[in-house]
Amino acid sequence: MPPPPTFDVRLTRARVLSPGVRELGLERVDGVPFTFQSGQWVSLVLPLSEGEARRAYSIASAPDGSAGFEVAVTKVDGGPGSTYLHELPLGATVRAIGPQGFFTRAPKAGHPSLFVGTGTGVTPLRSMIKDALAAGETAPMTLLFGVRHEVDRLYREELEALTAKHPNFRALYSISRPTPEWSGLTGYVQTHAESLWRELEAKGGGAPHLYVCGLERMVGAVRDLLRKQMGVDRKQVHSERYD
Ligand SMILES: Cc1cc2nc3c(=O)[nH]c(=O)nc-3n(C[C@H](O)[C@H](O)[C@H](O)COP(=O)(O)OP(=O)(O)OC[C@H]3O[C@@H](n4cnc5c(N)ncnc54)[C@H](O)[C@@H]3O)c2cc1C
Repeated sequence: MPPPPTFDVRLTRARVLSPGVRELGLERVDGVPFTFQSGQWVSLVLPLSEGEARRAYSIASAPDGSAGFEVAVTKVDGGPGSTYLHELPLGATVRAIGPQGFFTRAPKAGHPSLFVGTGTGVTPLRSMIKDALAAGETAPMTLLFGVRHEVDRLYREELEALTAKHPNFRALYSISRPTPEWSGLTGYVQTHAESLWRELEAKGGGAPHLYVCGLERMVGAVRDLLRKQMGVDRKQVHSERYD
């Protein structure tokens, strides 16, 4: 397979999505439309003080035929790559290589889907969900999004609006360190994955698929639950790990 293209991107927009997470709106400097499948990632080549380094970031936006796309970066304590991207000024350029990766979902895949993400692991799932809903996907889709605190719910307004608009989609949050006011799900996402999977199975429309993304511990736990304890076929389980 030929290597993915290399191109320069400019930071054209940035905003704080939650404490510790910065959204970057990047645009190809050559203006060429950026073609990718929802769920894929790009490698950013960063000129760090200790030398050039590459870091992978999932594409958070859905493919729209434009030269632009979004990523969301968690600031890792003492992490040189994420710190560089949190400090990158508007108008600056970096080299990108992509799209890359096989963690994808066709927008009209047609199968019921359980999306499980924690932290910025929700970003490729957001791309898949927006892509699917824009394409008119009618299969049921549930997003289980785990974060530590209520304020860490990235894209909350957008996900709530999508839940209200599309009867086949809903976003649920599980908060591991909730305030006393929180009345939704609590604890680690793996505690809720089985019941949400069974709900999707009960709706009919074919065998559900799992799309899980985040740090290794959570991804491994959810995969093991479905594959080893529930006996789900490996073809129905898709995962991406950040570490
Ligand atoms: C396919 C892929 C897609 C990725 N997509 C994203 C993304 O969309 N957004 C994003 O923020 N990161 C993403 N990452 C992680 C990213 O590539 C870097 O590892 C991260 O930014 C840390 O780099 P650093 O130089 O700051 O820290 P380093 O010094 O390289 O430290 C790396 C350590 O930070 C921890 N870490 C890595 N990513 C995260 C995270 N998201 N949240 C908390 N801790 C983390 C891990 O324990 C890891 O061992 C992705 C990684 C892969 C492999």
